[in-house]
Amino acid sequence: MKKKAKPGASRDRSALYRYVKARLGIGAARGVSIYELACRALNADGIKRPPGQSAKSWALANAAHAHSFVANLPKHVCQPLPQIAAPIPAGMDVVSDSFLSTYEWRRVRMMALKKYGARCQCCGASPADGAVMNVDHIKPRRIFPALALDVDNLQILCAPCNHGKGNWDMTDWREPEPAIDSLPWADESARQWQHLRDIASG
Ligand SMILES: [Zn+2]
Repeated sequence: MKKKAKPGASRDRSALYRYVKARLGIGAARGVSIYELACRALNADGIKRPPGQSAKSWALANAAHAHSFVANLPKHVCQPLPQIAAPIPAGMDVVSDSFLSTYEWRRVRMMALKKYGARCQCCGASPADGAVMNVDHIKPRRIFPALALDVDNLQILCAPCNHGKGNWDMTDWREPEPAIDSLPWADESARQWQHLRDIASG
């Protein structure tokens, strides 16, 4: 028997596109599914995908959040633009060792070190302890080449932690992102909301 598409599934999907666009400032990214992007947007809203749950099922399970976010977003409230994956230059082999010597990689690697600091996000070791820091691809280049230059796919690990991790392990050791209400612009957003409500109530 053929599996029937759930009613509203395509409506949910289009809501996810609008949600991602509104929340992340991008409509699509090369090599990343709309569900992955929706999960990233949900994560930014403090809705963190549980380990083992697929991006698709988690995104669709939270479609109601996407619907309400899009429906309620005041047009003039600016969302912070995320750092999105830099395009992979044509001909660049992101799987090769020579990738690690390219300017593009060194640039995004430095961005990750500035973002997180030179401290192992798994065990806490730092150069002061004599540890050597590695910038690690959470989703390995070999399997997710499109994310090779995505700063959101990077974490800082000391050499022993990185060595022990291997290509099969995609554990994200970073701290969870802050909830949306704790972001610096949340107060301003709330103020503008109240302003809109005041206008609406006459
Ligand atoms: Zn470590």
